[in-house]
Amino acid sequence: TAQLFATTIPVKANKIVESELARFLPDEIILPQVKNLKTLSSYFKNQGYLVSLSEYNPQNSNLDLAQGWIENQFNGRTLKELSSNQAINQSLQTLYFYLKKNQEKALSQFNNIHFYEPDDYLILDTATLKNLEILKNNQDGGRKNSLLEVLDKAKTPMGSRTIKKWLSRPLVQKEKIIGRNQVVTSFCKQIDTMQKLEEVLSQIGDVERIVGRIALRRASRGDYLSLKETLKLLPTLKNILSFHEESEETFNVLDLIKIIQEKITNYSTLFGLLQSSINEDLSSEWIIKKGFDLELDKLRTLVQGSQKEILKLEQKEVERTGISSLKIRFNNISGYYIEVTNPNLKLVPDDYTEQQKLVNRKRFTTQELKNLEQEIIKAQNKIDQVQTDVFEKVKDDVEVYLINLRQLSQALSYLDALYSLTKVAYENNYVTPVFNDNQNIIINSGRHPVVEQKIINSFEPNSTNLNEKENLWIITGPNMGGKSTYLRQVALICIMAQCGSLVPAQMVDIPILDRVFTRIGSGDNLAEGKSTFLVEMEETATICLQATKNSLVILDEVGRGTSTFDGIALAQAIIEHIHQDIGAKCLFATHYHELTELENIFKGITNYHMVSSKIGNKVIFQHKIARGKAESSFGIEVAKLANLPNKVINRASDILEKIKNEHSPFKNIKIKPSFNKQENQVNVFNFQKKESDDKVNVLLDKILILEGKIKQKENALKEIKNLDLDELSPKQVFDFIWNLKSKETFNVSESLKQ
Ligand code: ATP
Repeated sequence: TAQLFATTIPVKANKIVESELARFLPDEIILPQVKNLKTLSSYFKNQGYLVSLSEYNPQNSNLDLAQGWIENQFNGRTLKELSSNQAINQSLQTLYFYLKKNQEKALSQFNNIHFYEPDDYLILDTATLKNLEILKNNQDGGRKNSLLEVLDKAKTPMGSRTIKKWLSRPLVQKEKIIGRNQVVTSFCKQIDTMQKLEEVLSQIGDVERIVGRIALRRASRGDYLSLKETLKLLPTLKNILSFHEESEETFNVLDLIKIIQEKITNYSTLFGLLQSSINEDLSSEWIIKKGFDLELDKLRTLVQGSQKEILKLEQKEVERTGISSLKIRFNNISGYYIEVTNPNLKLVPDDYTEQQKLVNRKRFTTQELKNLEQEIIKAQNKIDQVQTDVFEKVKDDVEVYLINLRQLSQALSYLDALYSLTKVAYENNYVTPVFNDNQNIIINSGRHPVVEQKIINSFEPNSTNLNEKENLWIITGPNMGGKSTYLRQVALICIMAQCGSLVPAQMVDIPILDRVFTRIGSGDNLAEGKSTFLVEMEETATICLQATKNSLVILDEVGRGTSTFDGIALAQAIIEHIHQDIGAKCLFATHYHELTELENIFKGITNYHMVSSKIGNKVIFQHKIARGKAESSFGIEVAKLANLPNKVINRASDILEKIKNEHSPFKNIKIKPSFNKQENQVNVFNFQKKESDDKVNVLLDKILILEGKIKQKENALKEIKNLDLDELSPKQVFDFIWNLKSKETFNVSESLKQ
């Protein structure tokens, strides 16, 4: 589409590179021939991208050519920016060499660069895009059950692509967001008009791709016809949209749609050209319509005339020979021939030359027929030539409109995307979000946009109020209680709002976020040689390093990938960091019920839980969020739902009972929070053993150390016995003793005394 977006990312900021790539989802990555090419190439390949090589290398002698192209294509301001940005300039040179080799015609298409910084858009890192299943699901990587599937009701492929772009790059500029929001809101009130718009959009082709092909001279006759059909619809589209001009001040958000309206005369001239030139009947060999080109029409009359001549000749030969069944026919191998059946062969005149003998007939030709055929072939070839020339001329004339056509395709894509957001909002009762400057996230009766589609009428709406007093929620609740759904729903509502969409809730009042981070579940990245836990911690590290107080952080069961105690300790430290040092709004779902103690310690940390109740052996999930902590995770009850064998369930219940009672290996461990006011540090899980146990444990530790030392001493003595002194130099013996001493194996008696 000849659109260039450019940004620079600091060396080694791999995470930013990865999230930019996840946003653009490039079909192909083009690399220059640089020193570390192999590493660079496998870095991208490992992430599943297709990598191609440009012939550009910094020592390339033709760099002038590339630079010449750059200077020719881009104007003053862009050139100035490029001269101060070597990285982008080199990227353009890389692109130049690649296109020069593979698609030279495309080079002239690029004349604008959109420079941006990654944080000109809401930052969604790779893990967040994946965890929230924004563009694809986590089962098979398809669109099913993704946010994209719900929001994409566009009528054209270019509209769908725009929705995808908006979802992967939500906005951060308030006016722009409100602009889109307001158009969708006002479209929602004009549902009759929307139906008309739907009808028009359904008839529009993929203008964006067609225009791309036109620019490369690769468009087919069908492409030009499809473009013509789209242009034909523009006056209707103008009428449909005209109601907005008077009623909406905000309508100038859609500058691009204005372009359709303003340039309509332009487009109608182009429509006229296509309408008069290109033949709609795709089965006909006539690409160019009759009446468009005089010469072509003349030649066609000539060919049609010579075909009449053939019929005349056939009639003449029937009369001359008296063979009433005589026929002049044509095939691609022999051309024109006279066909006579066997019983009539005796009537064939001497000037007939035999061409072919079949079972019950023979084929002949005559000088007159040959002459006529030559004439027809000549005229036909001329027609083909002239038709090709005329078609090329039409293509040239269409190319003059390329800039307008690109604007048109962009306008139509936007319009279709806005139509799509309107349709979804209308059908699902979404509301217009309000944006505040006080950083509070207030959602009344919010819903998960994807899950609510699956369980229509039974989805339980939930509210959120993340504010200064409660800006980090610790959410507990049973397995299957709805924690993950709730967490995702809050993040998705914020992201949808910043895309310009309306949102699934009764009321939404939110700030403009700079980043949304999500760490949900655990995922292996074994291909990159990373374990589940390492991936979990890497993603959490990104959050700790990049989140700001304007970010929303969603953490679901962080710390579960390691041992319970390590996990709890890490979870607490992460919560403390996000709460105390970063100040981001945060929802933290966990099965570590011990973490709920933090509410008593930190201002701003609050407990919420998913309501459930246990009736007999059954857990009833209400999927409702409420203040306070959950009673239990009901893990065993949920495992029962999964049909785990009764034997296993019963055994687990027994073990749980034992753990809860005194007989457990943890019986002496009382998990209780302690708070060291002086250092302002909290250890929720300071395992305080009983006093008497402590003394025993200290002694046990010392005995263990001693045992180790005695073992070391025995080993050392064994080594001395095995020494062959005849084989060693004095230096080697000295080193050996030095080595033994440094291991401190001979202080056993000292240790025993202790
Ligand atoms: P676990 O702790 O086991 O991961 P969870 O508490 O995160 O469980 P979810 O995975 O969010 O639970 O939800 C479990 C199921 O409950 C979902 O698949 C969905 O069908 C249903 N559910 C979740 N939230 C709601 C809701 N608000 N209304 C109705 N059904 C819901």
